[in-house]
Amino acid sequence: MTAIVLSGTELAASIRAEAAARAEELAAAGRRPQLAVVTATDDKSSAWYVRSIQRAALKTGLECTVHDLGADAAPEAIRERLTRLGADPLVHGLMLQTPLPSGTTLEELASAIAFEKDVDGANPLSLGRLASGLPAFAPATAEAVVTLLDHYKVPLSGRQAVVVGRSTVVGKPAAHLLLDRDATVTVCHSRTADLAAVTGTADVLVAAVGRPGLITAAHVRPGAVVIDVGTNPTPEGGLVGDVAPEVAERAGSLTPVPGGVGPVTTALLLRHTVLAADRAG
Ligand code: NAP
Repeated sequence: MTAIVLSGTELAASIRAEAAARAEELAAAGRRPQLAVVTATDDKSSAWYVRSIQRAALKTGLECTVHDLGADAAPEAIRERLTRLGADPLVHGLMLQTPLPSGTTLEELASAIAFEKDVDGANPLSLGRLASGLPAFAPATAEAVVTLLDHYKVPLSGRQAVVVGRSTVVGKPAAHLLLDRDATVTVCHSRTADLAAVTGTADVLVAAVGRPGLITAAHVRPGAVVIDVGTNPTPEGGLVGDVAPEVAERAGSLTPVPGGVGPVTTALLLRHTVLAADRAG
């Protein structure tokens, strides 16, 4: 068996096209949507991700400003910048990039992101509302997982979904969104005993760990749908996911890295920013 490739490229392009059309109307009315990204890291994959957001934003007709506070930024400086950008009427979407300097956590700082501008769903208020089934922007990567599944008409109601990873930005919100679609959801993490036994029950397996090749063929039920969220830089300057190449011979369908979850995540961030600009009107 060779898995069907669930590419995110075309889906992302259609989300961006829709966002671009509305961004143009807003710009014509003097309200060009603007996304502000605050970073405080010298992590290479983070820099790669921020550059890709900026490129996509410009192509879509949005402003995108990057506020690099340096890898040794103090938590107060990060909080202060988020508060200032939250009060800036020209900024519609605001996100804080991870990783953060040691000793600070996203959970701590994200409460300084204005709720209505929280386009990456990082503020605990957004996450709490998501978990309660109330309207809020979901973290874009978690939303990209279900958006891809919906796009490819993967049935979720009553199916077993296993999410590997329990981060606040990906694993937990992805689990909530899968629950909302009536999947039976299991969340695994570094203390899960016998990971392969749990992941082997999945109709839909979401890998969001950050370890290249962690998910091998032995972790996958034949025919399962596998969503690879992992983005791991290689020494050669490429990018690989969490799923080993051999899984393509066992899964029914599989997202590629790059070109799967990543472009859909970026497109959803832009969609959220345009929506926030629309609402700010
Ligand atoms: P994270 O905060 O480091 O969380 C990783 C999770 O994986 C943790 O819950 C950890 O468990 C779990 N884990 C670690 N080793 C494990 C193991 N051996 N078995 C099972 N679980 C294990 O990472 P993240 O921010 O969620 O990101 C995960 C991946 O997604 C990374 O590769 C990141 O680059 C990628 N990502 C991609 C996009 C995109 O747009 N494509 C966006 C964001 C992130 P514990 O909780 O027990 O430590």
